[in-house]
Amino acid sequence: MDTPHRRAEIVVDLDRIRHNVRRLREWTTSADGTRPRMMTVVKADGYGHGLVPAARAAREGGADWLGVATVEEAVAVRDGGDRGPLLCWLAAPGDDHRPAVARDVDVTAYTVAQLDEVLAAGRALGRVPRVQLKVDTGLSRGGASPTHWPALVAAAREAERRGEARVTGIWSHLAASDEPEDPANAAQEQAFTEALAVAEQAGLAPEVRHLANSAAAVLRPSSYFDLVRCGIASYGQDPAPGHTPAALGLVPAMTVQARLVMTKRIEAGDGVSYGHTWVADRPTTLGLVPAGYGDGVPRHASSVVDVWVAGRRRPVRGRICMDQFIVDLGDDQIEAGEPVVLFGAGLEGGPTATDWALATGTINYEIVTRIGGQRLPRRYVDGGVAG
Ligand SMILES: *Cc1c(COP(=O)(O)O)cnc(C)c1O
Repeated sequence: MDTPHRRAEIVVDLDRIRHNVRRLREWTTSADGTRPRMMTVVKADGYGHGLVPAARAAREGGADWLGVATVEEAVAVRDGGDRGPLLCWLAAPGDDHRPAVARDVDVTAYTVAQLDEVLAAGRALGRVPRVQLKVDTGLSRGGASPTHWPALVAAAREAERRGEARVTGIWSHLAASDEPEDPANAAQEQAFTEALAVAEQAGLAPEVRHLANSAAAVLRPSSYFDLVRCGIASYGQDPAPGHTPAALGLVPAMTVQARLVMTKRIEAGDGVSYGHTWVADRPTTLGLVPAGYGDGVPRHASSVVDVWVAGRRRPVRGRICMDQFIVDLGDDQIEAGEPVVLFGAGLEGGPTATDWALATGTINYEIVTRIGGQRLPRRYVDGGVAG
């Protein structure tokens, strides 16, 4: 294992992000050699891996497009030096679209009102905005409902005719792609195909039509259209636990590690951490790990996850505190300073973010995106993290 040089840290192996993006490109390539364009999604600080480093690694791995949620994220990607195709998709009413339009970012409109705001930004700058239109095909989240879709399409086409916009894409988002048997998947593909027909009849000819996220990119070629938007899988996190083929060969890029502050023996009957929710049933050795919920370690992990110490999984005992938690080392002779992996790639059998997610009732997305908070330093490596 790579030795942590701090109290606790997040190590991101950028080479693994490159590898995962490359593997996803290969995986989505059909027998005749054609493949959808690959968008790597780097919103939310690159799912906790760092926005600009993740964006660079993704391009190096072959990402044709990058995707983010907010205009601020799009600007940060551009300020980091990226000039390639980039889509953002979440604006609030009154948001200033000029920073995105000025930087050649594709902006998404869900409504005619949003489209008008984007057009206003283009006029203010004397530029033709690149606009993508989102249709709601069944997630009931963002995007135009089928009843509002024809009006959005007509307004966008009118703007194109006036030379005030270029409609570069039409897209939607799936509700249940991590459940391949869910009938919502086929229903949404059908609804998307119908929405595309409405747009084409109105005269729109977008460069990219897209629906699939990571799980769909891995499991549903019928959802590919022109482009797939891969977030979680690009970071090596399993996009559909229980369904993802091992042959895909994703490797988690994030390892969270620390060093034991101290170890101590306790007796049978001793309670551990706040509330004594765990009481030792025999003498044992405890290790103190200097990371807690102030570092993004979920408090729901109390007594339910394992960490990796000295070549073995060891159980966390009692409540996770703000700055620290306690691990049970049994009767092993382990000293202060010993490295601890909270979660990582699991290549030697250690815990993964997916293990932590299953134990704490959430998804690996939330585990990797929340870890660190404002507190844990991130360190980048290019290969070389074994755990
Ligand atoms: C976050 C997001 C994605 C990426 O989803 P993954 O499941 O992480 O691949 C794709 N599209 C949209 C609209 C998103 O918000």
